[in-house]
Amino acid sequence: MRTPLLLLALALAAPLAASDDIGLDAQAIAAAAQLRDRALEGSEAFAFVEGLTTEVGPRLAGTEADARAVEWTKRRFEAMGFDRVYLEPVTFPVWLRHRESAEVLSPFPQKLVVTALGGSIGTGGAPLEAEVVEFATLDELKAAPAGSLAGKIAFISNRMVRFKDGRGYGPAVGARSNGAVEAARKGAVAVLIRSIGTSNDRFAHTGNMRYVPDVPRIPAGALSNPDADQLVRMLRAGQPVRLRLDISAETVGEYTSHNVIAEVTGRELPGEVVTIGGHLDSWDQGTGAIDDGAGVAITAVAGAMIGRLERAPRRTIRVIAYANEEQGLYGGKAYAEARAAAGEIGAHQLSAESDFGAGRVYALRAGVTPAAWPVIERIGQVLAPLGVATEQGVGGPGPDVGPIVAKGATWAQLAQDGTDYFDYHHTPNDTLDKIDPKALDQQVAAYAVLAYLAAETTVDFGTLPVATPAPAPAPAQDPAGKPAR
Ligand SMILES: [Zn+2]
Repeated sequence: MRTPLLLLALALAAPLAASDDIGLDAQAIAAAAQLRDRALEGSEAFAFVEGLTTEVGPRLAGTEADARAVEWTKRRFEAMGFDRVYLEPVTFPVWLRHRESAEVLSPFPQKLVVTALGGSIGTGGAPLEAEVVEFATLDELKAAPAGSLAGKIAFISNRMVRFKDGRGYGPAVGARSNGAVEAARKGAVAVLIRSIGTSNDRFAHTGNMRYVPDVPRIPAGALSNPDADQLVRMLRAGQPVRLRLDISAETVGEYTSHNVIAEVTGRELPGEVVTIGGHLDSWDQGTGAIDDGAGVAITAVAGAMIGRLERAPRRTIRVIAYANEEQGLYGGKAYAEARAAAGEIGAHQLSAESDFGAGRVYALRAGVTPAAWPVIERIGQVLAPLGVATEQGVGGPGPDVGPIVAKGATWAQLAQDGTDYFDYHHTPNDTLDKIDPKALDQQVAAYAVLAYLAAETTVDFGTLPVATPAPAPAPAQDPAGKPAR
């Protein structure tokens, strides 16, 4: 009797095994396709960003607006019908911008548009006046003789190049991150950079910078692209260019903000989680519509749509609005540390973040074990009608997902068209009008499909090799450790 039974079992198992490769049945695929189509018909994502950017506005980490953003988002998540909404503490130093201006004193007196870089000190309560010395790149500044900039302002004039995938950011951003340290090493009293951005608008792009121990701290600012051009023309005229720089900014104590988290509880494996999210903080000048109100809205709405399905997915879906990404990935790091301490890294089945503006998604990428890749390809087939291609062996996790991926968690990326992202990134011009509601709906559709099928499949996405910490920070990297984005 044994043999025929075994044969029968094998015969029955064979067709099941084929669909079992990806652990998704026809019902799951149909539900994902329905989520996709429903999102395209119009989602609540634009209304979410509209509310956040209007009612809270700019949300610099550690300010009273940070607290309002946390409260606003918690209430919104609760109103969206999630099974669970909760806060987790995130502590960091508070940096405040007070005042900033720059003007050329000679040979052609006029004002320039400047912004202090995040983390910069001020000019000491009074304007600083000095001659400007230009460097085409950060490397050129590094190659300057020691002491050659004593009493001078170093100006790094390199220009970020525009690409759809934002890869011009990585090579350019080192000037912002490390310009102050390198200039101070040569004796400079301040550093100015050309904004790390692609627009020709007269807005300067802020963004994080860093100091290191044992190198004097000097003020750091960015000029708008047209103002950087203007300064370059003056310098090329051949006479010494003297500039007055006035920055008031300070780091004042610590603040505890929160990651705001919402969940759809899994029906079979509630302890296994798929995370999606964005960061809730923004820089202080714009209203943080594309960076990153959009990301929080897209992923929250995708999660809420899944939560309204008749049957919850097998695994839990967790939407995370991360605290203080901009000044050093504090929310992502706190989340990863807490999960590591609780032994929950392995419970993370797939993690993704939307933090690249509001442009349409064009590619699905993932870092999973080879055995789980067929699931990614199947998810990609459901995404294909959205104009999304599946790409293997490229991409990387979002910035706040980086810390948990470094501890072994698997990731997925929905790559967005960032052609104009760096026109607005970190400027006063990052406002709601830059968002196309239809594009936002396409992203909701993509995140809903990804999160739902990743939470529904019976396949384990596994864990990845744990990254070993780099011995020294790479000069061309964002201080926050962001990939080129
Ligand atoms: Zn961002």
